Amino acid sequence: MNKSKVLIIYTGGTIGMAPENSSVPGSPLVPKKLEDLKKYSPILKGSDGLEFGEISFDEPVDSSCLAPKDWVKMASILEREYSAYDGFVILHGTDTMAFTSSALSFMLENLDKPVVVTGSQLPISDSRTDAVWNLENAVRIAGYEAFGLPRIPEVVIVFADKIIRGCRATKVSTTSLSGFDSPNFPQLGTIGEHIQIRTDLLKPLPSTGSNFRVSLDMPLAVIETSLTPGLRPEHISQMLNLSQIEAVVLRTFGAGNAPTDDAFLASIETAIRDNNKTILNITQCVQGMVEMGLYEASSGLLELGVISGLDMTLEAAMTKLMWTLGNRIGEQVPLQIQVNQRGEQSENLFDLRFGAAGTYESPVKSFTQYVTPDRRFAVDRLTKAVIRLSNLTIKGVKKGESVTIRAFMNMPRATSETDTRDPRCILDREVTWTGDSISIVQILDDNRARSSLGESDVLISIFTDRELEFSIEGVFLAIFARAQY
Ligand code: ASP
Repeated sequence: MNKSKVLIIYTGGTIGMAPENSSVPGSPLVPKKLEDLKKYSPILKGSDGLEFGEISFDEPVDSSCLAPKDWVKMASILEREYSAYDGFVILHGTDTMAFTSSALSFMLENLDKPVVVTGSQLPISDSRTDAVWNLENAVRIAGYEAFGLPRIPEVVIVFADKIIRGCRATKVSTTSLSGFDSPNFPQLGTIGEHIQIRTDLLKPLPSTGSNFRVSLDMPLAVIETSLTPGLRPEHISQMLNLSQIEAVVLRTFGAGNAPTDDAFLASIETAIRDNNKTILNITQCVQGMVEMGLYEASSGLLELGVISGLDMTLEAAMTKLMWTLGNRIGEQVPLQIQVNQRGEQSENLFDLRFGAAGTYESPVKSFTQYVTPDRRFAVDRLTKAVIRLSNLTIKGVKKGESVTIRAFMNMPRATSETDTRDPRCILDREVTWTGDSISIVQILDDNRARSSLGESDVLISIFTDRELEFSIEGVFLAIFARAQY
């Protein structure tokens, strides 16, 4: 039988709690020491093929009291003990467990051993407890070799009947013994009579030569704010512009939608353009993805530079932002946020900016520009693309007159005469000129995007049907590609 060495890190939570005063009925639950917990756990008392190490927080706490400094503490323990163990189990309260598992997912790079976070809804001392079951399964998954299980080289939550990727997890019930879910990604495994692991879904092992690394910089510069109908723009503006905050996770409606009124959009604009804040859009819906540009009610956000959190949970979005701010600066922040890092989102999003064309004083008749996308972009994984022409002004056209705007992708010889049935024609939009500049958003489905995008440079050409002169503030192409795991 193979031997496994597992390190148990005890941070607190219901799993290790007992009534403060057992002789007083209704006495509140308080965290106990690891020794107290071990009395109840058959597996921790010793098991063939398993060797344990134990580290406990000096003061085990309710997880509601944990903060990023405690994630740093956990990550530092993992860094120090990494080579001495085959797997790790973190005993943790359920309330903020998904934040911890998300944070650790980002903080631990090139992980090739299981880091299993677990806890329980009922204290281990309770005769109906779920703690023994959760702990036993967590230890088996961390000490996989001794139990003939596949290795999960990821941070996971093991709880009740589920094995969930740490950065996909969220607490869904305060009472159900199955308190966690993975709303936007399948479970990595199920626990019943047998432990079954979906090896096809696991993050691949790091390539040889990529050593385990830990980043400990998790700045407290991120907050979350949710939209509600009738929320006053001045209130949202105060939230977005708090002085020590660098980034805000904005929980919007549905597929990333928000009010379209000027006051609301002005508050977003001030935060991004004047105060340099990063705003990350995630949905309030439990399931699904932000798709800015799909509705007019999200085009304004896209236009102002709000970045997309795609299908990330709140926990993943918050901790990914902290981790990114701790590791990147400037334009690298949105770039890193919109690509999958640890399996936290289903797609990668690459935003290409093609710059301006002409000015109002010296407009142009055609616009042609190349941009080289991020090297991680792969055409065969493409799911869609969104092209956006921002603040287009056309000369020589009267109010109320129609004009057609055309755009071609990767067709260097395209002219205003080119057949618009060519798959490389990505925009053929008739607009009625009102005298004010206009912005145009066009979504290309996977086939359309694939047939017009190459692996390397992306070329965009824009004309009007009548070769009118125009100017554009910016042309943007958002490319969505399925993430690798
Ligand atoms: N309040 C507890 C905690 O998060 C809840 C639990 O562990 O279930 O520490």
